Formats: sequence, structure tokens, C-alpha cells
Amino acid sequence: MCQQCDDLNHLFDNNRAWIARMNETDPDFFDSLTRTHAPEYLWIGCSDARVPANQIVGLKPGEVFVHRNIANLINSSDMNVLTVIEYAVEVLQVKHIMVTGHYGCGGVKAALGDGSPDMVEHWIRPIRKYALRHQDELARLDDQARWDRLCEINVIEQVRNLCHIPSIRNAWARGQRLELHGLIYDIRDGVIKSLDVSICSREQADRFLTRCD
Ligand SMILES: [Zn+2]
Repeated sequence: MCQQCDDLNHLFDNNRAWIARMNETDPDFFDSLTRTHAPEYLWIGCSDARVPANQIVGLKPGEVFVHRNIANLINSSDMNVLTVIEYAVEVLQVKHIMVTGHYGCGGVKAALGDGSPDMVEHWIRPIRKYALRHQDELARLDDQARWDRLCEINVIEQVRNLCHIPSIRNAWARGQRLELHGLIYDIRDGVIKSLDVSICSREQADRFLTRCD
């Protein structure tokens, strides 16, 4: 066996211990997961290892559908995130889509710097655009406050992007309950808070888009 496989042994040990704990606290746990997949929440968050969706908001396996990428971006050319959203809305019929950014986001910080590796630079280009759009506000802040604020702005801009997505607009048009939310998590103290950009109808979305433009 190679050294790399040996390095994973503690993960398999952890897995066996977790199974034992789950079976002890809820003997029906694994059977219940095989019967249904009906999460109420879609979490769109950052890939950052410090921001695990389920733990932060105390949800069990099966309770939140998750998509993560660097800096929690929703690009209209990204088939991955668009497919996740369409499946979540049309098949799972989630009630809430939560874009969850975080302070201390490396992807957002990269957008405030001079340059990154090629693919990262390509990926974070939208954040550079947001920084330009909000440059007057950001210019008044010190470095830490500017980074924090751009993390928030990035989340709000992603909620704005969600408002354009056909599967979401079509859900509202047919009367399906669906709310969009912008949240931010603070890795410094573990607190998650709302950025007060909740949207639950086409009309609200259109007003929000007009306000942002
Ligand atoms: Zn991040």
C-alpha cells in the first residue's frame, strides 16, 4: 500500500466512528436517507474549507442541497451551477436558495490584488467588475473594511444574478414558493447573518434588479 493511502487511514477510522454514533443516536438514520431526498434549502457557498454548510447552520445530511465554488459565484455561463439550481428548483422544489459568502474570502481578496494564476484570474473576473462598480464606496474604507465590504457586495451581486435565472423566474410564474437570500458567515466568530436581500417573487426581483442597476 502506498504512503498516500496510509495517510487516509484516519479518515476511514473517523467514518466508522461516525456511523456508530449515528446508529446509536438515530437507528433509522441511514434507512431514512434511502427513502427520500427532499431538502428545503439550496446552499450556494464558497469552497473554502472553513465554511462547511451543514455544520454552520446545524443541518443534518439530507437537509441541505449544496453547491460550492471559489467565492460563491453564479455565472450565467457556468453549466454546473445552472444545472444545480434547475434541479434544486424544478425537481427537489427547495423553498430557499441561500447564497452564503464569508469574510476572509481568498477569492474576493484576489480580486482586490494585482493578479492570480490564470484560471483563478478568469474565475474571479466578475468580482473585479463588482469592485469597479462600487469603487467610490470601497475607496473610503481601509484595507480590512474594503475586503469585508467586497465580500458582502459579492453576495448581493450573486442574489442579483439569481434573479435573472429562467428556472427561478419560471418557478415564481407558476406560483411555486421560492425565496432567495444573501447571507454572510464570519470565520472570526462563527456568526452567520442576513444581508437583507431576500427576494420571493418576480416583482420583487425586478424591483431589486432596477435598484441595483
Ligand atoms: Zn471564500
